[in-house]
Amino acid sequence: MTDLSRRHLLAGAAAVGAASALSPLGALSVRAATPPTTSQAPGFYRYKVGTIEGTSINDGARTFPMPDKFVTNVSKDEALAAADAAYMPKGMVTVPFNPQLINTGNKLVLIDSGNGIANYEPTKGAVGRTLQNLAAAGVDPKNIDIVLMSHLHPDHTNGIRAADGSMAFPNAEIMVPAKDWAFWMSDENAAKAQSDMMKGYFANVKKVYAGIESKVTKYDWGKEVAPGITSVAAPGHTPGHTAFAVSSGGSTVMIQSDISNIPELFLRNPDWHVVFDVDADLAQQTRHKFYDMAAAEKATVVGFHFTFPSIGHIEKDGAKYRLIPSAWNPVL
Ligand SMILES: [Zn+2]
Repeated sequence: MTDLSRRHLLAGAAAVGAASALSPLGALSVRAATPPTTSQAPGFYRYKVGTIEGTSINDGARTFPMPDKFVTNVSKDEALAAADAAYMPKGMVTVPFNPQLINTGNKLVLIDSGNGIANYEPTKGAVGRTLQNLAAAGVDPKNIDIVLMSHLHPDHTNGIRAADGSMAFPNAEIMVPAKDWAFWMSDENAAKAQSDMMKGYFANVKKVYAGIESKVTKYDWGKEVAPGITSVAAPGHTPGHTAFAVSSGGSTVMIQSDISNIPELFLRNPDWHVVFDVDADLAQQTRHKFYDMAAAEKATVVGFHFTFPSIGHIEKDGAKYRLIPSAWNPVL
């Protein structure tokens, strides 16, 4: 048996290359060569909640240099160390995006809509993949009955528009949290915005909802907003930020939306504040309340910014939390 040493890890590729060049079967392996595909497989994953069928639809993931104040209340070095410990590329942070398609039996509900096809980057294809992954899952956007927003940040809401600006889900009722709508649509709040990020968010909501303002349905917390789907108060990330309980036949899955951003940083360090939080202290309180409940109840949790397929359980680890991703299930 060959011993396993660091030398093999570092030189493995070269050694394999040299061995095949010497092989008498070298000619055969040339004939059998298949060119690499160079693109990822479609990103959709199904799960059951009683008689309800959920599908995690991947909108993509964005890897970018970590901004100086990505975590506002610890040093950048500390935040980078956490990203490094999660094997993110050096100096970078990776944020995935995962809308959820919920087939209640008589309604097709899309919870959040992703970054939007207008933001699809053909060369990289990093984000804006919701429509193509819905198509891969066999779903016609015309058949979506409800698009249910957790909050009105661009990565959740911009996907309601097709590339030409028309409605991507032309027959869908669009439902938004009443408190988020009031906050982001207020000219007074927009005028108070300090950072370019916040100014951009206010402008984006106006732009995305221009011309359809009167058609949007506003919902409150603690209501069954669609069959089997209850809106759950989760304020802090934004004033109207909402989680959802999807329930059927005695089973429940919690859609946490953005109670935390990426778990590698913000479940491990629940008191860290991501730059996107509107009220970071309230978001921190909400996070502890939600994860203490999820851990105690052993609840299945779906996170918009968890790595695909974005489903798992929360384990309490002292004052911190850990995500235990669900195993791939080949049968429903
Ligand atoms: Zn988000």
